[in-house]
Amino acid sequence: MSKFLLPDSIFKLMNELTKFPGVGEKTALRMILFGLRNNLTFFKDLGEAFINVYQNLKICKRCFNIAEDELCEICKDPKREEGILCVVEDIGDLMSIERTGQFKGRYHVLGGLVSPMENKRVEDLKIKELKNSVLLYKITEIILALNPSMEAEVTAFYIKDFLKDTGVKITKIAYGIPMGSDIEYLDEVTMAVAIKERREIE
Ligand SMILES: [Zn+2]
Repeated sequence: MSKFLLPDSIFKLMNELTKFPGVGEKTALRMILFGLRNNLTFFKDLGEAFINVYQNLKICKRCFNIAEDELCEICKDPKREEGILCVVEDIGDLMSIERTGQFKGRYHVLGGLVSPMENKRVEDLKIKELKNSVLLYKITEIILALNPSMEAEVTAFYIKDFLKDTGVKITKIAYGIPMGSDIEYLDEVTMAVAIKERREIE
């Protein structure tokens, strides 16, 4: 899109919007035109919502979920089952599992998987923090809820090795789904079965 067709402010906004996955210039422009057809306060509200996230969002110091305080809503909730942690790759997977309402304990967000392709090493993941949590919060079982892949296998291996002296039981959710499927798409029933049928890892 020629910069000269557009006022500078619109051009800049369009460029920012194209940073979203799946949003090209055409889509970005369509979003902007939608806003222009409404009221200009639409842009103000949107901008304020973005800034609000920037200013107020933190990472939970216990589980590494997003939070607005030191601890996230899940870690703060006294009704959560103690002693059990569900280990996930990222916040998206945490949200997917949480949406099914089938897990009552707390979580631990690893921040990725060991992956030479993506240059992710064990040290880049929150595995040391996982061990600290296991000891500090007297965790008796951790459930690995990682999307099935080679990287997940390798990561699980490292976790098991790193935590072996803690005596914590390490299980993984059971998948009725083929390799490459995604936690994101598990519904309530499948998730309930996946948790119920979890097995201790070898
Ligand atoms: Zn938390």
